Amino acid sequence: MSLDLDPSLAHGDRDSRAFWSAVRDGRLLLQRCSACRRARFPAMPGCPYCGSPDATEEAASGRGTVYSWITVHRALDADHADEVPYSVAVVTLEEGPRAVGRFVPGRPPRFDEPVTLAVTPSRRSGVLWFAPLDEAADEDPDRRSP
Ligand SMILES: [Zn+2]
Repeated sequence: MSLDLDPSLAHGDRDSRAFWSAVRDGRLLLQRCSACRRARFPAMPGCPYCGSPDATEEAASGRGTVYSWITVHRALDADHADEVPYSVAVVTLEEGPRAVGRFVPGRPPRFDEPVTLAVTPSRRSGVLWFAPLDEAADEDPDRRSP
C-alpha cells in the first residue's frame, strides 16, 4: 500500500486542481462553504451540509486531534517494507473535517492526542504526516515555551 496520495489524481479536475497544487507546495487546502461557513475535505462540488455549490479555499491550520489509527506490521507495498511498523492516523482537523495521514515513526498515536500536520511533497504528489503537538514543539525552537 502506497501512502502517496493517488498519483492518477495529482493533476486534479475542476474541483481538486487547487488542492493538488497546494499539496505540491506543502499545504493542505480545505473548502469553506460560502453559505453555512462549514469546512469540508476532500474537495467536492457542493456542501454536504446545506447543498450550496459556493465555497472558498483556505489552508488548514495544521492542528487536530487523533480520531483513530491503524498500525501496519506487514507492508503491502515493497516500497514501505523497511518502514514497518508504522501507523496511519485519522485526524479530526481543528476546522472540523477528518484527514488520513502517516503518523511520525517511533510510537503509535493515542486517542484524542493533539497533533500537528505537515504535507511533504513526494516524487509523485504528496504525503500527509501527523506528529504529536508536544513533540513537534520540542523540535521547533520558535514554538518552545520560555
Ligand atoms: Zn454549506
